[in-house]
Amino acid sequence: MREIHALSDQTISQIAAGEIIENPASIIKELVENAIDANADRISIRLSDNLLDEIRIADNGDGIAKSQINKAFSRHATSKLRTISDLDLITSLGFRGEALASIAHISQMECVTKTAESDFAYRFVVEKGVVSQGEPVGAPVGTTMIVRDIFYNTPVRKKFLNTTSKEIRHIVEVVERLALSHQDVSIHLSRNQKTLLHSKVSDDKINHIYSILGKDIAKNLLPFAFDTESYKIEGFIGNNLLHRATPDREFLFVNGRSVKSNDIARAIRKVYRSLIPLNHYPVYVLYITIDPILIDVNIHPQKQTIRLSNENQLTTILERLVEEKLRPKREIPTINDLNDGAKDAQAPVPEKTIFELSRERKIEREMPKAPTFDLAASAPIAAEEKRAFGDDEMPLRPEMLPNTKVEEEKEPTEKAQPLDVSLYQFLAVVFKTYILFENKRDHRVLVVDQHAAHERILYERYSKEIRDSAVATQLLLAPIAIHLSPEEMLAVKNHLADYEALGIYPEVFGEQDIVIREVPEHILIDNFQQFFLDSIHQLDDGVNVKEQNIYKIMRLACRSAIKAGDKVSEEEAYALLEELNNAQTPFTCPHGRPTMIHVEKRAFEKLFLREGL
Ligand code: ADP
Ligand code: MG
Repeated sequence: MREIHALSDQTISQIAAGEIIENPASIIKELVENAIDANADRISIRLSDNLLDEIRIADNGDGIAKSQINKAFSRHATSKLRTISDLDLITSLGFRGEALASIAHISQMECVTKTAESDFAYRFVVEKGVVSQGEPVGAPVGTTMIVRDIFYNTPVRKKFLNTTSKEIRHIVEVVERLALSHQDVSIHLSRNQKTLLHSKVSDDKINHIYSILGKDIAKNLLPFAFDTESYKIEGFIGNNLLHRATPDREFLFVNGRSVKSNDIARAIRKVYRSLIPLNHYPVYVLYITIDPILIDVNIHPQKQTIRLSNENQLTTILERLVEEKLRPKREIPTINDLNDGAKDAQAPVPEKTIFELSRERKIEREMPKAPTFDLAASAPIAAEEKRAFGDDEMPLRPEMLPNTKVEEEKEPTEKAQPLDVSLYQFLAVVFKTYILFENKRDHRVLVVDQHAAHERILYERYSKEIRDSAVATQLLLAPIAIHLSPEEMLAVKNHLADYEALGIYPEVFGEQDIVIREVPEHILIDNFQQFFLDSIHQLDDGVNVKEQNIYKIMRLACRSAIKAGDKVSEEEAYALLEELNNAQTPFTCPHGRPTMIHVEKRAFEKLFLREGL
């Protein structure tokens, strides 16, 4: 047997440090939190070209008294008298009083600090966790922490770091979250004298958000607020023009701390389904103040994921708030929205300084770019189908379901039509797909995707018929016979009622054969056999999935029904526009792609450099 050794203190510290300090971003998070805890309202973070060379964080907070400095850098020492509430445990990684000691163990530190009471500032050097005597220097009240040679003694950790640009991305994310959750603190992050982020103190939250997330986001945010006895909610949610390919613009702050909650994220995404492109995520900044008692702590601390004990209520409230805010504010995208570099003179936010613009460019260059409205990136139908139905987050829009309670509440409300159709004059159909209309009065061209538009119309028509249990059907002259596997046969038998609700009447013949004589009128399905087999494979078992099954089949049917490239006459084009304009959700097809887009005259002028002529 091998001998068991006790680990040295040094090793223990190093292991502990490794758990807290994963990367440069976690150093910055700890040091900025300390500065905020010390009442700083200005914090500057300077990164060196090679991130691990030096990080310098200066604040104008209370400073650390000379007599306290040793304690500050020792493990499990904290001056913070706050009781450690559940939420603190979750969101502070659960290691209080360890950050400085841990950082000092994996780097060379220097600290210059002055309290208001002291005549001098002092400069301390911390090596291998040991703090030097301290020499008086000249400096204002506050603290500057300099962290050098990061991970010099933990080569493994160093090896597992990402590329510099990824680590910078992490840092910016961490600082964004800290800045968004501290409206009264100005945080400046720079590298090589170039600003990466500069949050500004402002009473107006939108302006504050604007300084952190930029104009494109801020100008498309819709604010709302809601108070109950148990919560206070303040939210800024993106309109339907704002979405991202990744979920990194979904910000949630609970009691002033950045956290993640899968249930809240899911509830909000649900509202955006079919308003933003498939597989894109909404953008929002949500502040919730809640009694910590209502938060579940039984979660992984480092993920900072929380669970709320009476979640259902909160998620339901949120869902409704977002829905209420979002529905009336839907907008038709214009070509200027697609062109993310374009400036919009009517933006409700201040104009940018050159400084800020260059900062944005810089960030854009360094970060993977989130496409805004990349139509070209829409996946081919087959692949999209798999994704749409394959995941468990199936977009289930209650208003599309027959006979559900939710549906009653969401029964189509008064809806203003988005367009004055009489202003639109048919021009042409291009590429056998896009119908162009001109609106002379407002100087714009409307481009309608005939495929997406038709799909939306059919979908709503069909779903209404299903809701009203009045699906119009047609008898087929040539009945369709389909041979099934025993499993498929079982699935069909178990879901006969679902199919009938959809206007599809399979008759069972023997062990493995069915015949279909009656199908929905509106749904002209080319390859019915394939459609039917696909639909069987979409089915789930269980009592509660009935509506979901109907919904899935319905979507499948709508998609199969429409052919791209069909010839559309002028009359048909007008009819299509008219009917689309009357739809409940006119701007997107059931899969979330846009059905129509405005191209402003200005966009043409820009292209031909006629602007300002
Ligand atoms: P904690 O923040 O949990 O107390 P830390 O190791 O992060 O543990 O910091 C230890 C102590 O050092 C803090 O409690 C605080 O008193 C002091 N301190 C750290 N950073 C600063 C700062 N920027 N300004 C003033 N005091 C600081
Ligand atoms: Mg701390």
